Order: sequence, then C-alpha cells, then structure tokens
Amino acid sequence: MKKIIALILCFIFILPLSSCNDVGEGTPKYIFMFVGDGMGMNAVALTEYAGIDLSFNDFDTFGSVTTHNLSSEITDSASSATAMASGEKTKSHYVGVDGNGKKVKTLTDFFKKKNMKVGLVSSQAVNHATPAAFYAHNESRYNYYEIGLDFCESKVDFFAGAGFLEPDGDKGNLYDMAGERILTNGEGFLPFEIDRKPHEKSLADYLEETVKKLYSEEGFFIMCEGGRIDSACHMNDAYTAIREIEAFDEAVKIALEFYGEHPDETLIIVTADHETGGLTLGYNPTEYEMYPEVLLNQKISYSRFESEYVSVYLEKKPDLEAVLSDIAYLFGLSDLTAYEKELLSYAYELTKAGTGAYTKRDWVDFSDKTPLTVQVLRLLSHRAGIDFTTFYHTASPVGLWAKGVKADTFAGAYDNTYIYEKIVEVSS
Ligand SMILES: [Zn+2]
Repeated sequence: MKKIIALILCFIFILPLSSCNDVGEGTPKYIFMFVGDGMGMNAVALTEYAGIDLSFNDFDTFGSVTTHNLSSEITDSASSATAMASGEKTKSHYVGVDGNGKKVKTLTDFFKKKNMKVGLVSSQAVNHATPAAFYAHNESRYNYYEIGLDFCESKVDFFAGAGFLEPDGDKGNLYDMAGERILTNGEGFLPFEIDRKPHEKSLADYLEETVKKLYSEEGFFIMCEGGRIDSACHMNDAYTAIREIEAFDEAVKIALEFYGEHPDETLIIVTADHETGGLTLGYNPTEYEMYPEVLLNQKISYSRFESEYVSVYLEKKPDLEAVLSDIAYLFGLSDLTAYEKELLSYAYELTKAGTGAYTKRDWVDFSDKTPLTVQVLRLLSHRAGIDFTTFYHTASPVGLWAKGVKADTFAGAYDNTYIYEKIVEVSS
C-alpha cells in the first residue's frame, strides 16, 4: 500500500515537472529577454481579468524578482536595467556603472565575445534608461546625448523602436552617426497602443524586423522593452497600461513563433524592471467585487486626452457640463453620482487655477499631474474596483516567466542581479 501511495505521489509531483517542461539539453543560441517597464504582477493579473489572455503567463517556469538598488528599496529603470544587464547593483539614475561610477561589463560584452548578434528593441528611445544599460556607461541616465554617443560607439548590432532623445550635440547628429544600425519612428517614444494609428508600427513589428535582421547561425541576444507600460502606470491610467501590456505580449508572440521553428535552440525570458503605480486590485466601496470591464470604455490615453482636450479647456474654459460630456464619451463615465460630479468639478477648477491654488491635500492627491486627468482616471479605476497608491515606482517584487532551453534555471525567488548571472550561466 505504501508503495502504491509513493507511486501515486510520484505521478502527481514528479511527472508533471518533467513532462511539462520543454527544456532542451544544449545551450540556447537565440535568447529573447523581454522587459515590461513598470509591469507589476497586479498589472499582469488585471490585464487578464480585463479579458486579454497573455501568452507569457502560460510559460512553464516562473520566478519572483526583487528590484531594490543601492540608493533605495524603490529602484528606477536605470539602476534596475543595469542590475539585469550586468549583475551589478548601482544607484538610482546610474546606468552601466556601479555604485562608484566604474564601468561594468554587460550582457552585450558577453554575447559579442561569443560572436553572437545583439539587438535592442524598445517603445522608448534608443538612449532611454533600459536600452542604455546594455551599452552605455554614465552616472546620469539623463545625459541623453552622451548616452547616444555611447550607442554609436557600442558593439550593439541593431536597435529598433523609438528614436533618439536630444539627437543633436557637439559631435554631430545621432541619427547620422547611427546610420543603418537603427530602425526608428524618429520620435522619443512609440505611440501608446490605445492611440496607435494603423500606419504606425507596433513593438511587435519592430521586434519582427530585428529578428529578420539578426538571424544567423551564430545566434543572437535580443532585449525587447515594453517601455510605455511604465508611462501609463505613472499616470495611473489602468486601461492604457493594459493595452501596453497586450502590445508587449504581441511582441512575445513573435518570439514564440521563432521558438516554434527553433525549439531546441531558443530561450525566452519575460520580466519587469520594477512595479509602477502601486496598483492594487480592490477598493473599499466596491468591497469584494471588481468590474474590470468598465475600463474597456476608455477610448484614448491620458496623453491624448491632455493634448487634444485639456489643452483646449485651458484655452477656451468651457463650462463643466461640456467637459463632462467629453468625459462621458471618452471614458464611459456617464450617470455620475453627485459625489463623482463634485470631485470632477473640483479637479476642473483646480486645473484652471494652477498649482498656486493647491492645498497640501491637493499636492498629495495630484502631485505634479493634471488634476482633471487624474480625477477622471481615478473615478474610472474606482468604478472598476481598483486603485493606485502612487504616481511613482514601488518596491514590490516583479514576476519572471521563462520558456525554452534551460528555462527551469529561472524558477524560484531571487534578486534582479541574478537574471544576469543566470543568463550567463545558461549561455556558457
Ligand atoms: Zn518609471
């Protein structure tokens, strides 16, 4: 009887482990590393609750990753990307240098030594923090021009996505210097997925071009960043973030397609550099209920709302009813309760009055954001039964999903510096 129980236990616990993984024996030749900037676990869960099935959430291997840096429990993208790209903890704003400002060796150096191609793809600029950690060395992530020069002098084979920030400086134009090594939209970032026009390329389109360009017998390492999940979460714009995560997953699907053709040679890793927004799935007035479907009524991002509507309100100062009618159409916020209307009215007046009129409480509620935009998004989130605690990053651990050759190396709970260590380990 004991033997039978042992046998049953074996089937329950051991067989699934060995049969469900698709880990090959060799060394991965084609490595995709996806970084969802600011993509916390709750944002991933919310995306699925909103009805979007994320392919990476079905990967066999899962890890939990801490993200603190040398300055704070709450990291920024520069130091977090540096930790993942080099295995070195560093200070906030430092990119590609350790806490003393010393240059670090990166995954780019490691893979170029192996004669593999290195590609970077991002919906943020070439010289923005996350891609920069793979080629630049600077104590300030905001020295965009210097970082851009580092790209031009680096061994990175190809970048695709958004263009350069601050492309002009004393040594010439960064686009001219980068030449054929970049394929960009010429802007500082790609459009939000929710606002993207049909002729504009998506993150997945840029990744596809990069794979085509870098595919060879020598193999490649491609880091692909969903860089604007973070922007949406900074503004506590839940639905824009959901659509960014969906677009990010469309890029993951390009890697999965490649994996389908090269299953014994490919490794796919999906992770995040930190959580942004302190997104929580629950809100007092909705008690034990969530209504993520109400988020789907949103038609444009916070960014387009501000550039196309709020700017007009500030100029023409229409009465509240006209503003509320736009808000009902654009965000599905109709049938306002008296309380909701009061909140929107207050935020509209405050937006027109400017920061000079802020109370201490207003600074807590709106920080440096536009009060009307914040209040609209906040009401929508609250109706959905969710909430955000901050406009900044948080110290919440993030997820890591892995599939393919030696994916099981990435199971467990660890620090973000181990991502570098583990990638080097499986590739050596
Ligand atoms: Zn951020």
